[in-house]
Order: sequence, then C-alpha cells, then structure tokens
Amino acid sequence: MDFDLFVIGGGSAGVRCARISAGHGARVGIAEERHWGGTCVNIGCVPKKLLVQAGEYGAWADDAAGFGWTITKGSHDWGKLIAAKDREITRLEGLYRKLLSGAGVTVFDGHATFVDAHTVEVAGKRVTAEKIVIATGGHPERLRIPGADLAIVSDDAFYLKTMPQHVVIIGSGYISVEFAGIFRALGAEVHIVYRQPLPLRGFDHDIREAMAEALSDQGIMLHPNLKPAKIEADGDRRILTLGDGQKLVTDVVFFATGRQANVKGLGLEKIGIELNAKNAIKVDDQLRTAQPHIYAMGDVTDRMNLTPVATAEGHALADTLFGNNPRTIALWNIPSAVFTTPPVATVGLTEEQACTLGPVDIYLARFTPMRHNLSGRVRKTMMKLVVDKTTQKVVGAHMLGEDAAEIIQGIAIAVVMGATKADFDRTIGIHPTAAEEFVTLRTRTRTTDLAKAAE
Ligand code: NDP
Repeated sequence: MDFDLFVIGGGSAGVRCARISAGHGARVGIAEERHWGGTCVNIGCVPKKLLVQAGEYGAWADDAAGFGWTITKGSHDWGKLIAAKDREITRLEGLYRKLLSGAGVTVFDGHATFVDAHTVEVAGKRVTAEKIVIATGGHPERLRIPGADLAIVSDDAFYLKTMPQHVVIIGSGYISVEFAGIFRALGAEVHIVYRQPLPLRGFDHDIREAMAEALSDQGIMLHPNLKPAKIEADGDRRILTLGDGQKLVTDVVFFATGRQANVKGLGLEKIGIELNAKNAIKVDDQLRTAQPHIYAMGDVTDRMNLTPVATAEGHALADTLFGNNPRTIALWNIPSAVFTTPPVATVGLTEEQACTLGPVDIYLARFTPMRHNLSGRVRKTMMKLVVDKTTQKVVGAHMLGEDAAEIIQGIAIAVVMGATKADFDRTIGIHPTAAEEFVTLRTRTRTTDLAKAAE
C-alpha cells in the first residue's frame, strides 16, 4: 500500500485526522478539491464571524453617543470588507496547507474517487491505502420550487459583488438568522420567511421566543408559518411569491434551508458504502462505514454538523488507529452558538427535552445589559438554567445576549462535569458582568414535568 491512511477531504475533520495520524508515525495522504480548511475556514464559521463583527462596529458607533461621544458613522464599504475577509481566508487556507506538509502528510489537490475499496484516484494518479477516511463535508441545498436557481445560498453570500439593499431569507436555522443579522447590521431591509411559528427549531422554547423578539427589535421582518412558492426575475430584482399569495420584491432571495452531505462522484456505490435516509454516510459510534477499513466523519455523516465536533472526531480516530489510544466522541452536552446580534449559546438539554426524562426546575432571568441603559439601544439578555429536580444537576444552560458564546463555553465545562445548582450557587460572581447572573439565579421560576409541558 502507498499509504497507511488516505483522507478524502481537507476540511476540519480531515485535516485534523491526517495531521495527528502523521504525528503518530503513519504514512498519510490527503486530497482536497476546493479549499483547504473546508467550509468552516472558507465559506462558513470564520468568514461569517468576520461579517458579524463588521456589523457590530456600526451599532457601536450609534451606541457611543449615549456615552458622550460625538461620532459620525459614515458609510460602509462592502467591497473593502469582502476584500479584507478574502485576504484573511487566503492566509488561513495557506496555513492549513502548511500544517499538513509540515506534519509530513502528502497533499493532493483534486477530486478523489474510489476505484476499489483500497484504491483512490486523484489528480490523475492512483493511490492505495490500508485505511481510508471520507470527510468531504456538505453543501447548502436549495428548495425545489420554480425559479430556485434565481436564489443564492450561503456559499454565494460570501462573494456578493455589492451589498444588497433588500434581502429575503428562507428558513430559520443557524445560517438564516446569522445572515439576517449581518445584512441588517450593514443597512439592508431584511425579511425571514419560515415554516415554523418561531425561529431556530430544536432550541429551547424561551430562547426561540427571545430570538424572534431580538430579530424584530433590529427591524428584521418576520414571516412565520409560511413557505415560498416560486421565484421570478424582474431584471436584477427578484419577485418571491409566498404560500399565501403575498409577493416580496427584493434584491436577493437566500435559501438557508439546510445542507446535504457531499457524497456524489466519490464512487461509493462501487465499494458498498451505505447512505442513511438523509443521503449521508451511515457510520457506527466508531465512525466505521459498511466497510470496516473505511471511516467517515464530520458533515458527510450529517450527525452534528459543527466544526469542533468534526475536529474532535478526526483527532479521536487518529488516536484510535495510530496512537494506541482508542476513544470515541460523545455527541451530547455539545455547546454551540448562533452568531446573531446578540448571539445565542447553549449547552445540554432544552426544557422540552429535559422534562421528558423527569421533572425539572427552571431558573430564568431577563434584563437589559448595563451598557444599553446608557446607549438606549433595545437589547435584552436572557439566561436560563434547566435543573434536574431529583439530582439537582444542571442539565442545560441557555443564553441569548452579548458575549453568550464566550460565557457558555465556560458554563459548558461545569455542565459536562455534572455540576449541581448548589455548585453554581456557591460560585462567587464577577461583578459587574452579565455572566454573574448564572451564579446568582436564586429564585426558581417554575417546575416543569411532562404533564405541565403538554398544557
Ligand atoms: P438548519 O437545518 O439549521 O435550518 C434549515 C432551515 O430550513 C430550517 O428553518 C428548516 O425549517 C428550513 N427548511 C428545511 N426544509 C424546508 C422546506 N422544505 N420548506 C421550508 N423550510 C425548510 O440549516 P442551516 O442551513 O441553517 O445550517 C446547516 C447546519 O450547519 C446547521 O444545522 C448547523 O449544524 C451548521 N451551522 C452551524 C453554525 C454555528 O455553529 N454557528 C452556523 C451555521 C451552520 P424547519 O425548522 O421547519 O425544519
């Protein structure tokens, strides 16, 4: 065999797996057809956060007046922002490539496809490997409605030539609400059309309500309980017809309606790799596919599509295969954040999930952050603890508010360790912060059990 391990896909999961395996002494090859670093670095988390930060400066300029500053905000230059973002992404992509060659990994630029269960063809070469990892990620999906090709998806949003003045986003998951916040903060009129009564299905109900309120507070127009029916072009403009017959005329229709695993063109059918109902690669808890020497990880398995999960899986598999340290990654108590303005962050169970397991005590606080008593901006913070009534363990922590992601990362350690409400209570707060609220929530808001939740 040419390699001990061949990795298909140079994103978060693949790069980590290749690099750590090489560090353990394995002979490793890796192929990537588009961007080193994958979605997260190039057309996902990293550029998204830079765009979110761009929007925040505008709001801070407005806020400063409340603190005595006379500031003229001026205009925003989208082209300049995208060019700065592109420079940073190019730098990071180069770093990823360097990391791999520095670790002694053989790097292939090109599309890889299986010839047989131990042979892959890439960039006109055939290479053989003892073990193979598929980490090809996913891509955004358009809904199948007439005129769908007239809409953009998140891949396109990062490269728009000009900043749209009017945007309609379909869906209300992570990507929808994050981009809604970006375009709104940079001055566009933004509409979100979604089929649920509240955005962010799957998140805690109180967070979803607070998110709907926060989006409205920013002037984002919400169209709940609706689906798009068709899109038509009128010159450069788009006419979106909704299920109720209402028409929205806009610069951009943006599908943020979920992602699909990248499984096409890999030749999986030739080697008997099975897909699940969502057309993603089926794996067991040790990331094994139907072929015991072929593994899959990250978004191509469509389990928990988050970068830190993908990198953790890549690292664990490398340690298992070549580091004499077999281990797996548990897919619960995974913290995550939605980078809206303000952001949401969460770890553990929602109230709705937790009460199916037994009664829970709920502690909830809502307040205006200190800064905004002076800035005058309408911005609220909501914090919530879900506590198992019997064991008093904190099984969920949820926050919508400034710095939520930074705060919940720390709280997640306590939740993962199984901290009780009493552990939170005996922790002294840092004053004055928003985060101290998590250790000073003294009054129980309610107790919920399954019967109460059903009411
Ligand atoms: P999500 O799955 O989060 O949301 C998809 C949205 O599209 C939902 O609102 C869904 O509605 C809606 N939708 C799906 N199908 C239809 C349909 N046929 N008609 C109408 N609406 C539809 O996907 P995203 O694209 O936002 O993001 C993909 C994944 O990427 C996320 O789940 C997350 O794992 C990851 N991600 C993580 C980020 C982070 O960590 N900050 C940022 C961005 C992405 P419904 O709720 O009713 O199903």
